[in-house]
Amino acid sequence: MWKILVPKKIAYGENAAKEFEYPEKSLIITTTESKIYEKWIEYMGIKNYEIYDKVTPDPAIETIEKIKNEYEGKEISHYIGLGGGSSLDVCKYLSKITGIPKILIPTTFGTGAEMTTYAVVSFNHKKKLLQDEAFLADAAIIDPYFLPGTPFNIVRNSACDAAAQASEGFDSKLANPLTKLFCKEAFDILENAIINYKHELLPYGAMLSGLGFGNSSTTLGHALSYVFSNEGVPHGYSLSSCTTVAHKFNNSQYYERFKRICQKLKFEPLTLKQPLDQAADVIMPDRGHLDNNPIEVTKQDIIKCLDQIVNNNPLA
Ligand SMILES: [Zn+2]
Repeated sequence: MWKILVPKKIAYGENAAKEFEYPEKSLIITTTESKIYEKWIEYMGIKNYEIYDKVTPDPAIETIEKIKNEYEGKEISHYIGLGGGSSLDVCKYLSKITGIPKILIPTTFGTGAEMTTYAVVSFNHKKKLLQDEAFLADAAIIDPYFLPGTPFNIVRNSACDAAAQASEGFDSKLANPLTKLFCKEAFDILENAIINYKHELLPYGAMLSGLGFGNSSTTLGHALSYVFSNEGVPHGYSLSSCTTVAHKFNNSQYYERFKRICQKLKFEPLTLKQPLDQAADVIMPDRGHLDNNPIEVTKQDIIKCLDQIVNNNPLA
């Protein structure tokens, strides 16, 4: 048997966020500043809402508890996550603990968080990847309206993340015919968007990537990337070299195409402060990613991959 989990309702394409009918008494949760989100809310036509705009990147469980307490007894009908992955993750976790439904609206397009059962929340200053069916959106809205004006660095890191997720998700041991369909189509669209400068296609590509990898998991590329993220490299940026090297190790059909995307986006090689052996010890316990890799990975393999990443510019 195969199964996939998807949000109850998916609205996508031009004007999706404008034409959607929002419930009243919603609590909008965002990471952005008022001069930006006021314009967004006007476009969306949301009426009679509350807003919480103090979510910071890499949200901590304390922030989530604080929002829960602040709005307790205020008859909130829905949460509306509006922004990058962090605002969506806060909504997902809040919804799980309060039972209040959530509408997820990404304004950057890469993680596919609005489609998945994953959420990243920090406990004691450590990021934790959680998975729960309760994290699935009651409605996900994908509208390219939010794309123009996004800084190039965010667009490129997000695009790289989406392409890495689609291709790793395709190769994953947990893949099934339907997830492969989503991942393959996602990669084709993202590749076209990046190589031919058709950035308006990125939101749809990232959405399909989320539907695919969200039901099949990412693999070695993502496992390798977290030691670089821990040293401050943005997630999507670190995947440029990590997923390229992982695809080579796995003999993936996506190796050349993924590398070409990264070259087009002009990513620079990565550096690592900690010794490779020590980094490999951090990566090895990440069974959630490594166990789904199409080929078994030993610690020696990890060290070899890291060596290629930091000493042999895999994107050259
Ligand atoms: Zn990712």
